[in-house]
Amino acid sequence: MSRTTIGVIGGGQLARMMYEPAIKLGIGLRLLAEGPDVGAAQIFKDVMVGDYTDEATVKSFASNCQIITFDHEHVPTWILRGLVAEGKLVRPGPDALQHAQDKLLMRRRLTTSLDAPAPKWQACADAAELRAFGAEIGFPIIAKASRGGYDGHGVWKLDGPADTGIPFEQALTESAGEKVEIIGEEFVDFARELSVIVVRSPSGQAVVYPVSETIQRNGVCRETITPAPGLSDEQAAGITRLGLDIADELQITGVLAVELMQRTDGSVVVNELALRPHNTGHWTIDGAHTSQFENHLRAVLDLPLGDPRARDPWCVMVNILGGSNQDLPSELLHCFARDPKLRVELYGKDVRPGRKVGHVNCYGDDLAEVRARAEHAARYLGGEIREG
Ligand code: ADP
Repeated sequence: MSRTTIGVIGGGQLARMMYEPAIKLGIGLRLLAEGPDVGAAQIFKDVMVGDYTDEATVKSFASNCQIITFDHEHVPTWILRGLVAEGKLVRPGPDALQHAQDKLLMRRRLTTSLDAPAPKWQACADAAELRAFGAEIGFPIIAKASRGGYDGHGVWKLDGPADTGIPFEQALTESAGEKVEIIGEEFVDFARELSVIVVRSPSGQAVVYPVSETIQRNGVCRETITPAPGLSDEQAAGITRLGLDIADELQITGVLAVELMQRTDGSVVVNELALRPHNTGHWTIDGAHTSQFENHLRAVLDLPLGDPRARDPWCVMVNILGGSNQDLPSELLHCFARDPKLRVELYGKDVRPGRKVGHVNCYGDDLAEVRARAEHAARYLGGEIREG
Protein backbone atom coordinates (compact mmCIF):
# COMPACT_ATOMS: atom_id res chain seq x y z
CA MET A 1 0.00 0.00 0.00
CA SER A 2 1.51 3.30 -1.03
CA ARG A 3 -0.43 5.58 1.30
CA THR A 4 -2.26 5.43 4.60
CA THR A 5 -5.74 3.99 4.25
CA ILE A 6 -8.41 4.47 6.89
CA GLY A 7 -11.28 2.00 6.83
CA VAL A 8 -14.65 3.56 7.68
CA ILE A 9 -17.35 1.17 8.85
CA GLY A 10 -20.84 2.37 7.98
CA GLY A 11 -21.95 4.12 4.81
CA GLY A 12 -24.15 6.99 6.02
CA GLN A 13 -23.72 10.72 5.75
CA LEU A 14 -21.04 10.87 8.45
CA ALA A 15 -18.71 8.66 6.40
CA ARG A 16 -19.63 10.68 3.33
CA MET A 17 -18.64 13.94 5.04
CA MET A 18 -15.23 12.48 6.02
CA TYR A 19 -14.37 12.24 2.34
CA GLU A 20 -13.69 15.90 1.67
CA PRO A 21 -11.06 16.36 4.41
CA ALA A 22 -9.52 12.99 3.48
CA ILE A 23 -8.91 14.34 -0.03
CA LYS A 24 -7.21 17.39 1.42
CA LEU A 25 -5.04 15.28 3.72
CA GLY A 26 -4.10 12.90 0.90
CA ILE A 27 -5.48 9.95 2.84
CA GLY A 28 -7.11 6.90 1.29
CA LEU A 29 -10.54 5.98 2.66
CA ARG A 30 -12.13 2.54 2.30
CA LEU A 31 -15.76 1.98 3.07
CA LEU A 32 -17.64 -0.97 4.50
CA ALA A 33 -21.17 -0.13 3.37
CA GLU A 34 -24.52 -1.69 4.20
CA GLY A 35 -25.53 -1.56 0.54
CA PRO A 36 -24.21 -0.35 -2.81
CA ASP A 37 -26.34 2.79 -2.92
CA VAL A 38 -26.03 4.24 0.60
CA GLY A 39 -24.91 7.89 0.82
CA ALA A 40 -21.17 7.33 1.28
CA ALA A 41 -20.97 4.45 -1.22
CA GLN A 42 -22.00 6.90 -3.95
CA ILE A 43 -18.75 8.83 -3.55
CA PHE A 44 -16.10 6.50 -2.06
CA LYS A 45 -13.91 4.91 -4.71
CA ASP A 46 -13.02 1.88 -2.61
CA VAL A 47 -16.22 0.26 -1.34
CA MET A 48 -16.89 -3.17 0.11
CA VAL A 49 -20.53 -4.05 0.65
CA GLY A 50 -21.09 -6.30 3.62
CA ASP A 51 -22.51 -6.94 7.06
CA TYR A 52 -20.65 -5.12 9.86
CA THR A 53 -21.93 -7.64 12.40
CA ASP A 54 -20.19 -10.50 10.59
CA GLU A 55 -16.67 -11.14 11.92
CA ALA A 56 -15.24 -12.55 8.68
CA THR A 57 -16.55 -9.57 6.69
CA VAL A 58 -15.10 -7.00 9.09
CA LYS A 59 -11.74 -8.82 9.24
CA SER A 60 -11.47 -9.06 5.49
CA PHE A 61 -12.38 -5.37 5.17
CA ALA A 62 -9.82 -4.36 7.81
CA SER A 63 -7.01 -6.39 6.25
CA ASN A 64 -6.51 -3.69 3.59
CA CYS A 65 -6.60 -0.74 6.01
CA GLN A 66 -4.06 0.58 8.52
CA ILE A 67 -6.67 2.12 10.81
CA ILE A 68 -10.38 1.49 11.38
CA THR A 69 -12.89 4.19 12.31
CA PHE A 70 -16.68 4.51 12.22
CA ASP A 71 -19.75 6.20 10.83
CA HIS A 72 -21.83 4.59 13.61
CA GLU A 73 -21.32 2.79 16.92
CA HIS A 74 -22.99 -0.53 16.15
CA VAL A 75 -20.12 -2.85 15.29
CA PRO A 76 -20.09 -5.56 17.99
CA THR A 77 -17.23 -4.88 20.39
CA TRP A 78 -16.14 -8.54 20.40
CA ILE A 79 -15.34 -8.27 16.71
CA LEU A 80 -13.35 -5.09 17.30
CA ARG A 81 -11.48 -6.68 20.20
CA GLY A 82 -10.41 -9.41 17.79
CA LEU A 83 -9.02 -6.81 15.41
CA VAL A 84 -7.16 -5.07 18.24
CA ALA A 85 -5.72 -8.41 19.38
CA GLU A 86 -4.33 -8.87 15.88
CA GLY A 87 -2.61 -5.49 16.11
CA LYS A 88 -5.03 -3.41 14.05
CA LEU A 89 -5.50 0.22 15.10
CA VAL A 90 -9.19 0.70 15.94
CA ARG A 91 -10.00 4.35 16.71
CA PRO A 92 -12.00 4.88 18.85
CA GLY A 93 -11.24 1.53 20.48
CA PRO A 94 -13.86 -0.94 21.71
CA ASP A 95 -13.34 -0.11 25.40
CA ALA A 96 -14.38 3.48 24.72
CA LEU A 97 -16.98 2.72 22.06
CA GLN A 98 -19.08 0.52 24.33
CA HIS A 99 -20.11 3.60 26.31
CA ALA A 100 -21.94 4.90 23.25
CA GLN A 101 -23.53 1.49 22.62
CA ASP A 102 -24.85 0.89 26.09
CA LYS A 103 -26.51 3.71 28.06
CA LEU A 104 -26.46 1.76 31.32
CA LEU A 105 -22.73 1.15 31.07
CA MET A 106 -22.26 4.85 30.29
CA ARG A 107 -24.31 5.93 33.33
CA ARG A 108 -22.40 3.53 35.62
CA ARG A 109 -18.99 4.62 34.37
CA LEU A 110 -19.66 8.37 34.45
CA THR A 111 -21.18 8.13 37.91
CA THR A 112 -18.51 5.95 39.50
CA SER A 113 -15.37 7.28 37.79
CA LEU A 114 -16.19 10.95 37.29
CA ASP A 115 -19.22 11.87 39.37
CA ALA A 116 -20.49 13.52 36.16
CA PRO A 117 -23.87 15.23 36.58
CA ALA A 118 -26.72 12.86 35.67
CA PRO A 119 -30.46 12.65 36.24
CA LYS A 120 -31.38 10.31 39.12
CA TRP A 121 -31.19 6.85 37.52
CA GLN A 122 -31.44 3.18 38.33
CA ALA A 123 -30.98 -0.07 36.45
CA CYS A 124 -34.40 -1.80 36.38
CA ALA A 125 -34.75 -5.50 35.59
CA ASP A 126 -38.42 -5.28 34.66
CA ALA A 127 -41.58 -3.16 34.73
CA ALA A 128 -42.11 -3.89 38.46
CA GLU A 129 -38.73 -2.36 39.30
CA LEU A 130 -39.54 0.64 37.11
CA ARG A 131 -42.80 1.10 39.05
CA ALA A 132 -40.89 0.95 42.33
CA PHE A 133 -38.34 3.47 41.01
CA GLY A 134 -41.16 5.79 39.92
CA ALA A 135 -42.86 5.45 43.31
CA GLU A 136 -39.59 6.33 45.03
CA ILE A 137 -38.58 9.43 43.03
CA GLY A 138 -42.04 10.40 41.77
CA PHE A 139 -43.63 10.12 38.32
CA PRO A 140 -43.24 11.04 35.52
CA ILE A 141 -40.08 9.06 34.84
CA ILE A 142 -38.18 8.16 31.69
CA ALA A 143 -37.53 4.53 30.75
CA LYS A 144 -34.75 3.75 28.30
CA ALA A 145 -33.57 0.62 26.59
CA SER A 146 -29.88 0.42 27.41
CA ARG A 147 -29.03 -0.60 23.83
CA GLY A 148 -30.43 -0.14 20.34
CA GLY A 149 -32.10 3.29 20.70
CA TYR A 150 -31.82 6.13 18.19
CA ASP A 151 -33.67 9.37 17.40
CA GLY A 152 -35.97 8.93 20.39
CA HIS A 153 -36.79 5.24 19.70
CA GLY A 154 -36.11 3.27 22.85
CA VAL A 155 -37.01 6.20 25.15
CA TRP A 156 -40.42 6.37 26.86
CA LYS A 157 -41.98 8.91 29.20
CA LEU A 158 -44.05 7.12 31.82
CA ASP A 159 -46.58 9.37 33.54
CA GLY A 160 -47.64 6.85 36.17
CA PRO A 161 -47.54 3.15 37.15
CA ALA A 162 -50.32 2.38 34.64
CA ASP A 163 -47.95 3.27 31.78
CA THR A 164 -45.63 0.38 32.67
CA GLY A 165 -48.21 -2.26 31.68
CA ILE A 166 -48.28 -4.73 28.83
CA PRO A 167 -48.27 -2.22 25.90
CA PHE A 168 -45.07 -0.68 27.27
CA GLU A 169 -43.46 -4.11 27.79
CA GLN A 170 -44.31 -5.04 24.22
CA ALA A 171 -42.88 -1.77 22.89
CA LEU A 172 -39.72 -2.37 24.87
CA THR A 173 -39.26 -5.88 23.48
CA GLU A 174 -40.04 -4.78 19.93
CA SER A 175 -37.61 -1.89 20.12
CA ALA A 176 -34.67 -3.60 21.71
CA GLY A 177 -35.18 -7.35 21.98
CA GLU A 178 -35.89 -9.77 24.80
CA LYS A 179 -32.76 -9.36 26.85
CA VAL A 180 -32.57 -5.61 26.94
CA GLU A 181 -31.71 -3.95 30.20
CA ILE A 182 -33.82 -0.96 31.22
CA ILE A 183 -32.75 2.26 32.85
CA GLY A 184 -35.21 4.25 34.91
CA GLU A 185 -34.37 7.96 34.88
CA GLU A 186 -35.75 11.01 36.56
CA PHE A 187 -37.79 13.02 34.06
CA VAL A 188 -35.75 16.19 33.60
CA ASP A 189 -38.06 19.07 32.81
CA PHE A 190 -35.23 20.72 30.95
CA ALA A 191 -35.14 24.31 29.71
CA ARG A 192 -33.15 23.27 26.65
CA GLU A 193 -30.68 20.75 25.28
CA LEU A 194 -26.99 21.43 24.69
CA SER A 195 -24.12 19.61 23.06
CA VAL A 196 -20.37 19.85 23.33
CA ILE A 197 -17.99 18.28 20.82
CA VAL A 198 -14.52 17.23 21.94
CA VAL A 199 -11.86 15.73 19.69
CA ARG A 200 -9.01 13.80 21.30
CA SER A 201 -5.96 12.19 19.75
CA PRO A 202 -4.10 9.08 20.98
CA SER A 203 -1.25 11.32 22.18
CA GLY A 204 -3.72 12.97 24.52
CA GLN A 205 -4.17 16.31 22.75
CA ALA A 206 -7.77 17.47 22.85
CA VAL A 207 -9.74 20.37 21.42
CA VAL A 208 -13.26 21.46 22.30
CA TYR A 209 -15.71 23.31 20.07
CA PRO A 210 -17.97 26.05 21.44
CA VAL A 211 -21.08 24.64 23.15
CA SER A 212 -24.19 24.43 20.94
CA GLU A 213 -27.86 24.64 21.78
CA THR A 214 -29.70 21.80 20.06
CA ILE A 215 -33.37 21.84 19.19
CA GLN A 216 -35.11 18.48 18.63
CA ARG A 217 -38.45 17.81 17.04
CA ASN A 218 -40.12 14.41 17.46
CA GLY A 219 -36.86 12.98 18.83
CA VAL A 220 -34.84 14.17 15.79
CA CYS A 221 -32.30 16.99 15.88
CA ARG A 222 -33.76 19.86 13.87
CA GLU A 223 -31.45 22.79 14.56
CA THR A 224 -28.29 23.85 16.38
CA ILE A 225 -27.25 27.33 17.43
CA THR A 226 -23.60 28.00 18.19
CA PRO A 227 -22.58 29.32 20.60
CA ALA A 228 -25.56 28.42 22.80
CA PRO A 229 -27.27 31.78 23.45
CA GLY A 230 -27.17 33.10 26.98
CA LEU A 231 -24.64 30.60 28.30
CA SER A 232 -22.38 32.35 30.80
CA ASP A 233 -18.60 32.04 30.46
CA GLU A 234 -18.62 30.05 33.69
CA GLN A 235 -21.27 27.61 32.43
CA ALA A 236 -19.46 27.21 29.10
CA ALA A 237 -16.17 26.57 30.91
CA GLY A 238 -17.84 23.96 33.14
CA ILE A 239 -19.29 22.11 30.15
CA THR A 240 -15.96 22.28 28.32
CA ARG A 241 -14.22 20.81 31.38
CA LEU A 242 -16.84 18.07 31.62
CA GLY A 243 -16.35 17.13 27.95
CA LEU A 244 -12.57 17.01 28.34
CA ASP A 245 -12.83 14.92 31.51
CA ILE A 246 -15.12 12.37 29.83
CA ALA A 247 -12.85 12.16 26.76
CA ASP A 248 -9.85 11.61 29.00
CA GLU A 249 -11.56 9.12 31.32
CA LEU A 250 -12.73 6.97 28.41
CA GLN A 251 -9.46 7.47 26.49
CA ILE A 252 -11.35 8.43 23.40
CA THR A 253 -9.77 8.82 19.99
CA GLY A 254 -11.65 11.03 17.56
CA VAL A 255 -14.88 12.91 18.10
CA LEU A 256 -16.84 12.66 21.34
CA ALA A 257 -20.22 14.40 21.40
CA VAL A 258 -21.72 14.90 24.86
CA GLU A 259 -25.47 15.55 24.74
CA LEU A 260 -26.68 17.51 27.75
CA MET A 261 -29.94 18.68 29.24
CA GLN A 262 -29.92 22.11 30.92
CA ARG A 263 -32.29 22.64 33.82
CA THR A 264 -34.08 25.93 34.42
CA ASP A 265 -31.55 26.76 37.17
CA GLY A 266 -28.76 26.63 34.55
CA SER A 267 -27.19 23.36 35.73
CA VAL A 268 -26.65 20.55 33.23
CA VAL A 269 -26.89 16.74 33.24
CA VAL A 270 -25.38 14.34 30.72
CA ASN A 271 -27.96 12.68 28.48
CA GLU A 272 -25.84 10.50 26.25
CA LEU A 273 -22.52 10.14 24.44
CA ALA A 274 -21.68 9.62 20.78
CA LEU A 275 -18.22 8.52 19.68
CA ARG A 276 -18.23 9.66 16.08
CA PRO A 277 -18.79 12.92 14.23
CA HIS A 278 -22.18 14.14 15.37
CA ASN A 279 -25.16 15.95 13.89
CA THR A 280 -24.73 18.73 16.44
CA GLY A 281 -21.22 19.33 15.04
CA HIS A 282 -22.20 19.82 11.40
CA TRP A 283 -22.04 23.59 11.89
CA THR A 284 -18.24 23.20 12.11
CA ILE A 285 -17.98 22.33 8.39
CA ASP A 286 -18.62 25.95 7.41
CA GLY A 287 -18.56 27.72 10.75
CA ALA A 288 -15.30 26.65 12.45
CA HIS A 289 -11.66 26.97 11.48
CA THR A 290 -11.38 23.16 11.41
CA SER A 291 -14.41 20.93 10.87
CA GLN A 292 -15.26 18.03 13.19
CA PHE A 293 -14.66 15.68 10.24
CA GLU A 294 -11.14 16.93 9.58
CA ASN A 295 -10.32 16.89 13.27
CA HIS A 296 -11.73 13.36 13.55
CA LEU A 297 -9.38 12.18 10.78
CA ARG A 298 -6.46 14.11 12.27
CA ALA A 299 -7.13 12.43 15.63
CA VAL A 300 -7.43 8.99 14.06
CA LEU A 301 -4.06 9.62 12.35
CA ASP A 302 -2.59 11.07 15.58
CA LEU A 303 -1.81 14.37 13.88
CA PRO A 304 -1.94 17.69 15.74
CA LEU A 305 -5.55 18.87 15.93
CA GLY A 306 -6.87 22.00 14.23
CA ASP A 307 -8.34 25.18 15.68
CA PRO A 308 -11.93 24.47 16.82
CA ARG A 309 -13.01 28.08 17.20
CA ALA A 310 -15.93 29.58 15.31
CA ARG A 311 -15.27 31.92 12.38
CA ASP A 312 -18.34 34.10 12.99
CA PRO A 313 -20.25 35.27 16.05
CA TRP A 314 -23.19 32.93 15.23
CA CYS A 315 -23.60 29.76 13.22
CA VAL A 316 -26.97 28.03 12.80
CA MET A 317 -27.33 24.54 11.33
CA VAL A 318 -30.77 23.28 10.32
CA ASN A 319 -31.37 19.73 9.14
CA ILE A 320 -33.28 19.22 5.91
CA LEU A 321 -36.01 16.70 6.62
CA GLY A 322 -37.51 14.82 3.72
CA GLY A 323 -40.92 15.82 2.39
CA SER A 324 -42.68 15.21 -0.89
CA ASN A 325 -39.90 16.58 -3.08
CA GLN A 326 -37.52 13.82 -4.32
CA ASP A 327 -35.21 16.05 -6.37
CA LEU A 328 -33.50 18.21 -3.76
CA PRO A 329 -30.83 19.72 -6.05
CA SER A 330 -33.60 21.18 -8.22
CA GLU A 331 -34.50 23.45 -5.28
CA LEU A 332 -31.02 24.92 -4.96
CA LEU A 333 -31.60 27.61 -7.58
CA HIS A 334 -34.08 29.45 -5.40
CA CYS A 335 -32.05 29.02 -2.20
CA PHE A 336 -28.70 30.14 -3.60
CA ALA A 337 -30.23 33.04 -5.53
CA ARG A 338 -31.81 34.26 -2.31
CA ASP A 339 -28.77 33.84 -0.06
CA PRO A 340 -25.21 33.85 -1.44
CA LYS A 341 -23.76 32.98 2.01
CA LEU A 342 -25.95 29.89 2.40
CA ARG A 343 -24.06 26.60 2.72
CA VAL A 344 -25.86 23.37 1.79
CA GLU A 345 -24.86 19.73 2.18
CA LEU A 346 -27.09 17.05 0.63
CA TYR A 347 -26.52 13.44 1.66
CA GLY A 348 -27.56 11.61 -1.51
CA LYS A 349 -30.22 9.63 0.39
CA ASP A 350 -33.64 8.57 -0.86
CA VAL A 351 -36.12 11.14 0.39
CA ARG A 352 -38.64 9.81 2.89
CA PRO A 353 -40.90 11.92 5.10
CA GLY A 354 -39.06 13.11 8.19
CA ARG A 355 -35.74 11.50 7.19
CA LYS A 356 -32.57 13.61 7.54
CA VAL A 357 -31.49 14.12 3.94
CA GLY A 358 -29.13 17.07 4.32
CA HIS A 359 -28.42 20.20 6.30
CA VAL A 360 -27.78 23.89 5.79
CA ASN A 361 -25.40 26.21 7.61
CA CYS A 362 -25.76 29.96 7.92
CA TYR A 363 -23.45 32.25 9.81
CA GLY A 364 -23.12 35.97 10.57
CA ASP A 365 -23.37 38.68 13.21
CA ASP A 366 -27.10 38.80 13.90
CA LEU A 367 -28.58 35.63 15.37
CA ALA A 368 -32.21 36.35 14.45
CA GLU A 369 -31.25 37.01 10.83
CA VAL A 370 -28.95 33.98 10.63
CA ARG A 371 -31.66 31.71 12.05
CA ALA A 372 -34.31 33.03 9.71
CA ARG A 373 -32.08 32.40 6.68
CA ALA A 374 -31.16 28.88 7.77
CA GLU A 375 -34.72 27.89 8.64
CA HIS A 376 -36.08 29.24 5.38
CA ALA A 377 -33.53 27.33 3.31
CA ALA A 378 -33.99 24.03 5.17
CA ARG A 379 -37.78 24.26 5.00
CA TYR A 380 -37.68 25.19 1.34
CA LEU A 381 -35.38 22.29 0.49
CA GLY A 382 -37.54 19.97 2.58
CA GLY A 383 -40.60 21.07 0.61
CA GLU A 384 -42.37 22.68 3.60
CA ILE A 385 -42.58 26.08 1.90
CA ARG A 386 -42.62 26.97 -1.76
CA GLU A 387 -41.65 30.62 -1.95
CA GLY A 388 -40.68 33.64 0.12
P1 ADP B 1 -31.55 8.54 21.53
O1 ADP B 1 -30.76 7.30 21.67
O2 ADP B 1 -32.79 8.37 20.75
O3 ADP B 1 -30.72 9.71 21.07
P2 ADP B 1 -31.71 9.91 24.09
O4 ADP B 1 -31.23 9.23 25.30
O5 ADP B 1 -30.84 10.99 23.50
O6 ADP B 1 -32.07 8.82 22.99
O7 ADP B 1 -33.13 10.54 24.35
C1 ADP B 1 -33.89 11.14 23.33
C2 ADP B 1 -34.54 12.41 23.85
O8 ADP B 1 -35.39 12.09 24.95
C3 ADP B 1 -33.55 13.42 24.39
O9 ADP B 1 -33.02 14.24 23.37
C4 ADP B 1 -34.41 14.20 25.37
O10 ADP B 1 -35.16 15.17 24.65
C5 ADP B 1 -35.35 13.14 25.90
N1 ADP B 1 -34.86 12.61 27.19
C6 ADP B 1 -33.92 11.64 27.38
N2 ADP B 1 -33.70 11.42 28.67
C7 ADP B 1 -34.52 12.26 29.35
C8 ADP B 1 -34.77 12.53 30.75
N3 ADP B 1 -34.15 11.84 31.73
N4 ADP B 1 -35.68 13.49 31.05
C9 ADP B 1 -36.35 14.17 30.08
N5 ADP B 1 -36.16 13.96 28.77
C10 ADP B 1 -35.26 13.02 28.40
